[in-house]
Amino acid sequence: MQYDLLVTGGEVIDPGAGLRGLMDVGIAGGKIVAVAPSLPASEARREISAKGRLVMPGLVDMHAHVFVNGHDMGCQTDHFCQASGVTTLCDAGSAGSSNFAGLRHVLDQEVRTRVRAFVNLSAIGITGTSRGGELSHFPYADPEGCARTIAENPDLAIGVKLRFGPGLVWEYSAEPVKLARRTADMAGGVPMMMHITDSPVPLPDLLEHMKPGDIVTHCYHGRAHGIMGQEKEFLLKEVVEAQRHGIIFDCAHGRNHFNFRMIERALDQGFLPDTISTDLTMTTATKGPVWDLPTTMSKLLHFGMPLDEVVRRATAAPAKIMGYEGTVGTLRPGANADISIFELRDGSFDMRDSDGDTITAKRRLLAQTTIKDGRIWYVRPAGV
Ligand SMILES: [Zn+2]
Repeated sequence: MQYDLLVTGGEVIDPGAGLRGLMDVGIAGGKIVAVAPSLPASEARREISAKGRLVMPGLVDMHAHVFVNGHDMGCQTDHFCQASGVTTLCDAGSAGSSNFAGLRHVLDQEVRTRVRAFVNLSAIGITGTSRGGELSHFPYADPEGCARTIAENPDLAIGVKLRFGPGLVWEYSAEPVKLARRTADMAGGVPMMMHITDSPVPLPDLLEHMKPGDIVTHCYHGRAHGIMGQEKEFLLKEVVEAQRHGIIFDCAHGRNHFNFRMIERALDQGFLPDTISTDLTMTTATKGPVWDLPTTMSKLLHFGMPLDEVVRRATAAPAKIMGYEGTVGTLRPGANADISIFELRDGSFDMRDSDGDTITAKRRLLAQTTIKDGRIWYVRPAGV
């Protein structure tokens, strides 16, 4: 037997690998070993029909949270991921130098989803108290500890996280950005990811201190000083320039960061997010408006982003940033056999943004089967 598992008859869509069309996918030893229009079922121990479905790489969520306040999705991370076709995610700075070991413990003991993480510049990580954010008190900034944590966890930590917003930083100037950038350099030139929602400082003043490969997250927020400045009409030329120079713009939906009017205007002006992500936490996964990554992707489809562009930004593009190029977020032979089988369901689906605006989408992506490392990890119950 050549294959442990064969996924047959589905429409393969893997724009990162240039694969598109009706194809079978052969899996052996937890890896993808063949993708071709027809593979012999007689050579497979088990076969799954994906007829009428889309076959994609396991989705990669560039921005989610496993460990906000020291718990959050925590041990339920797999539960949310497997039912939405997500096999890999990046924790966007839930933990800092003082509690990163706790995040690591939860991941090692409780979570099978493949995870990498940004380390918060603040020693305490994201605490979510009403008494101020993690860097509102300057002594919580721990550049040395952050850089050391990244160096000590090379299999997990990939960069520095900074949340720049009102009440989140000790000073409303570019200083916090400069410190985060210096910390990323101290850690060996890793990327930094900066949250920008409702920034008290114009975005161009912050972008100036970022490097190609750094990430601006929540790029479609509808609050102050976003990608269209205070007028919210036209893209700032500095933003267009920054993206052209390799600064990555991640959409990270979240409770406060995804505004339909901003999305519509940005897409009209040709500004697409480089990565599509959820900023998922326990609250937004169970009470909305985020729910999951396929829902965020469906919202962007509604606003006219082509399916291929949507899939690329939730598979190969984030996988590359997370250091998984060629092994995750792709169906190329040799890659880990993470595969998501989706239905693109027609109907009328009400969807909400972060500011109470609603749309009725005509199509929606729905995960049917999730395969991780060659094993079937989730099958949607019949009739749901
Ligand atoms: Zn976040």
